[in-house]
Amino acid sequence: MPLHRGHEKPDEHPRSVNPFFGETNPVSDMVEAPPKHRLPDGPLPPTIAYELVHDELMLDGNSRLNLATFVTTWMEPQAGILMAECRDKNMIDKDEYPRTAELERRCVAMLADLWNAPDPAAAVGCSTTGSSEACMLAGMALKRRWAQRNADRYPGARPNLVMGINVQVCWDKFCNFWEVEPRLVPMEGDRFHLDPRAAAELCDENTIGVVGILGSTFDGSYEPIAELCAALDELQERTGLDVPVHVDGASGAMIAPFIDEDMVWDFRLPRVSSINTSGHKYGLVYPGVGWALWRSAAELPEELVFRVNYLGGDMPTFALNFSRPGAQVVAQYYTFLRLGREGYRAVQQTTRDVARGLAERISALGDFTLLTRGDQLPVFAFTTAPEVTSYDVFDVSRRMREHGWLLPAYTFPANREDLAVLRVVCRNGFTTDLSDLFVEDLSRLLPELRRQSHPLTRDKDRATSFHH
Ligand SMILES: *Cc1c(COP(=O)(O)O)cnc(C)c1O
Repeated sequence: MPLHRGHEKPDEHPRSVNPFFGETNPVSDMVEAPPKHRLPDGPLPPTIAYELVHDELMLDGNSRLNLATFVTTWMEPQAGILMAECRDKNMIDKDEYPRTAELERRCVAMLADLWNAPDPAAAVGCSTTGSSEACMLAGMALKRRWAQRNADRYPGARPNLVMGINVQVCWDKFCNFWEVEPRLVPMEGDRFHLDPRAAAELCDENTIGVVGILGSTFDGSYEPIAELCAALDELQERTGLDVPVHVDGASGAMIAPFIDEDMVWDFRLPRVSSINTSGHKYGLVYPGVGWALWRSAAELPEELVFRVNYLGGDMPTFALNFSRPGAQVVAQYYTFLRLGREGYRAVQQTTRDVARGLAERISALGDFTLLTRGDQLPVFAFTTAPEVTSYDVFDVSRRMREHGWLLPAYTFPANREDLAVLRVVCRNGFTTDLSDLFVEDLSRLLPELRRQSHPLTRDKDRATSFHH
């Protein structure tokens, strides 16, 4: 998303709004359209203001056809009602809204249990605006713990964080904003995420932690968290270095507990000190809510927790924001109650079934090679088969957009910059019926694409914003 700038062009000469928009009389209530790039001089009747904004937003995409985003685009009406009831509640105001604060606490307790904290009562956590904020908080805790352990050398020594090059952009932000050196394990061959041994080799006495991703935004694969912990156990035996792991479970921490129960990736691994997830991804809540949890209070330095009394009360908080909407946290609690474990299992299994089915059918078209199959996150990446030379993934993305589908195409990072892929993110609400329509649209395009003499999408039209 660009950083917004002011508008160079002044507002054009006066225009009138639709006469129908007037309060009563279409002729005498005729209103001049307000300027768009400076605050209008006077007020407008609410009906007119509403129509103007409403009409402009019609050109936003249809979110249900957006296969780029991980973020929830459908909730049931009751959730919408509850959220509307809570739209005035400020999450920070825990004294004014003690019940909202209590629902947040219960959500943390449920997640601590779901992620197998050895002592759920000892686990600590909080809601955030999303995984990005949760990752900032988790990273800050890692950095502060490292600084405490190395008080004799810090400042002076430069902290580093080890992770796969496939990390979501929030980790680049964390390293940039908090001045931590990113140490990135590159992709290699058919390995599109972190390699545990290579990660352990990058660690030294200034490593604040290693991030493992469940799962990767690039291709939906789970990183091998248990193997990563084992490699770090081995490192500790060899060198004495005790490096903690943070699991970025933005998507997978709300998938794996329900449909990959045999996989051990969470607080059952003693080396996992913190976990985050996006409530607004597979937590099934509208944006923006995320969660950050620490195994115990020992993993979250007390000095990072603030207590303020200016709103009355004295509730400890760990957050980057101060004021923040409470509705999403309420909606998360509602969804936990509404679905329970069995409900989440059914929803996530259905989404995975849709993803796997769609991946298979795309593979059967013959023009594409799958990198992943939708059997970890319900997400898969595919590219054109080696013999396809008349078109590329950017052409497919551009042409599918003509049918309303947002299907992102992008290149991979080092050492697979040669690889460009398309990615499909299946979410609750992307049904088998919709996936049938998707395959129909894609198959109908193929004969035309095959007749091209060469790929046609120019660099400037190449979509790259997939970092959801
Ligand atoms: C989406 C995502 C994030 C960022 O999450 P937001 O909730 O959008 O802030 C971080 N890490 C991973 C792995 C993600 O998929």
